[in-house]
Amino acid sequence: MPFSFKAMWNNKCPRCRQGDLFVSPMRLKNPIDMPEKCAHCGQRLEPEPGFYYGAMFISYIFSGWFLLIPTLILVFYFKWSIEAAMAFAIFLGIITYLKVLRGSRSLWLHLMVKHDPKVQVEVETKLSEKKNTNWKAR
Ligand SMILES: [Zn+2]
Repeated sequence: MPFSFKAMWNNKCPRCRQGDLFVSPMRLKNPIDMPEKCAHCGQRLEPEPGFYYGAMFISYIFSGWFLLIPTLILVFYFKWSIEAAMAFAIFLGIITYLKVLRGSRSLWLHLMVKHDPKVQVEVETKLSEKKNTNWKAR
């Protein structure tokens, strides 16, 4: 599969689909803190300076439509007042902020970096071996 929605949604490395794209646990000071390289396959997570500039447009376009459409439906179909609909849009923007912020970076990287099935199999084998040795050690 050339593109995995699941890996993109879960913020996984596009090349091996195992490594995490963001530092966890998340620090509120810097929610988009990313390790330099994927912990499993070594894929650079910021291939060049300013790489995530494009992700800004994804997040802008997505949040624009994502907030506009429900707001318009509330106003014109459910006859909400403009103030109530705007309050709802702001609420929706706040609760989806982190997912959109991280998701747009994840989607951008997934669009630019090709999935490597060989690397994925290698990493999965390595991870399952690690699991097995942990089990034996106990
Ligand atoms: Zn990786």
